[in-house]
Amino acid sequence: MNKILKCKKCSKYTMKPKCSCGGKAVTVKPPKYTLDNKYAKYTRKAKLEKRQKQDLL
Ligand SMILES: [Zn+2]
Repeated sequence: MNKILKCKKCSKYTMKPKCSCGGKAVTVKPPKYTLDNKYAKYTRKAKLEKRQKQDLL
């Protein structure tokens, strides 16, 4: 499994923890996953709130 790292200094993508420019490279999470997680969280919350309302009635 290859980790994609992004240099903090020059914003270049690299596989090494240290970029060729000397800057520190950090792990980047694909934005798609973040969006999906956010969406799933919303859906789950909406479902939970609906159920809680039904229980109260
Ligand atoms: Zn760099």
